[in-house]
Amino acid sequence: MKRRLVVIGNGMAGARAVEEILARGGGDLFDITMFGDEPYGNYNRIMLSHVLSGEESDADIFLNALPWYHENNITLHAGVRVDRIDKFSRHVFASDGRVAQYDQLIIATGSRSFLPPMDGLHTPSGTVRHGVFTFRTMDDTRKMIEFAQHEHHRRAVVIGGGLLGLEAARGLQAYGLDVAVVHSGGHLMSAQMGPDGSAILRRSVEGLGIEVHTGSRTTAILGSDRITGVGLRDQPDLDCDMVVVTAGIRPNVDVAVVSGLAVERGIVVDDHLRVMDEEEIYAVGECVQHRGEVYELVAPLWEQAAVLADHVTGVDRNSMYLGSRSIPQSNAGSLMAPSGGK
Ligand SMILES: Cc1cc2nc3c(=O)[nH]c(=O)nc-3n(C[C@H](O)[C@H](O)[C@H](O)COP(=O)(O)OP(=O)(O)OC[C@H]3O[C@@H](n4cnc5c(N)ncnc54)[C@H](O)[C@@H]3O)c2cc1C
Repeated sequence: MKRRLVVIGNGMAGARAVEEILARGGGDLFDITMFGDEPYGNYNRIMLSHVLSGEESDADIFLNALPWYHENNITLHAGVRVDRIDKFSRHVFASDGRVAQYDQLIIATGSRSFLPPMDGLHTPSGTVRHGVFTFRTMDDTRKMIEFAQHEHHRRAVVIGGGLLGLEAARGLQAYGLDVAVVHSGGHLMSAQMGPDGSAILRRSVEGLGIEVHTGSRTTAILGSDRITGVGLRDQPDLDCDMVVVTAGIRPNVDVAVVSGLAVERGIVVDDHLRVMDEEEIYAVGECVQHRGEVYELVAPLWEQAAVLADHVTGVDRNSMYLGSRSIPQSNAGSLMAPSGGK
């Protein structure tokens, strides 16, 4: 009889783990059910920068479109969030009332954008203000494009001068917006580069017409009915109509925390990607903490997914993940590539 494999999270790690499992004959071993709180199949998140800049359409970046799940006998609950796991009775509970029983469970809940505390960021009801965007999902990207295309919107401020922030800034220029990047570190991409390399990067970025403010901390989003600017500590305010916050990410660990799993910065896993002290629960991707490291790139999650698949299918129970080098997969070069104007 087939075992029930449930996967929470239908992003790059969850879908990749399932692909690896299928490649090892997992279709004969498991009935697979996936929950993903985005209402789509799995898409290439890296390519969202290209969608924002208009170089790709969102339809072009799917890695596993909805028919793929059907063709592989996978039950996908798209747009359904899992709230809680009962690890003793081996059930997951979704926010729409669905309940699924598992023999093996994979948690692949990824990360969410971090919003640093700032005055004026939220409405009185607690939602993020209209005109403030994060850059993590297809829906985020669509909303940003829609807002940027509005004829009255002329100027954007991107908070965070890492790779994601620079890609957002470059993408927004495609809509004819003037863009400024505000970075609290002393130089752009301060987590990845030293000051010398970053000085060259800054010249390129400024050469593209992007204003750069380093060593600047945003303290407030300004304006009452609509956004009119951002306030900076010890520096003049910057005018703008929209704000994009790319100030880092945090692992999505809420489900693991409420379910009593081992969580520190991420969900703590062993070298087989099994959640610490749990026989039948695995975790993979950005939600994971392995040997003290939490990764924010695609290459590590591919390596993790292969080891997880070896282990859960029994193809190689000795397969071990020993950690990855954190080198971005992709896209950094595209930052300097030309993009079209409005
Ligand atoms: C614009 C952008 C550009 C990037 N560029 C690069 C790059 O150039 N190189 C690189 O290596 N990496 C890049 N990354 C990072 C890369 O996309 C991530 O490392 C990768 O997507 C992580 O995969 P994941 O599956 O762990 O998380 P995700 O892809 O975020 O997937 C997690 C999924 O789980 C869902 N989920 C969360 N909680 C629940 C729940 N309780 N129930 C159901 N579903 C849930 C989430 O909605 C999401 O769909 C980029 C990211 C972005 C946003």
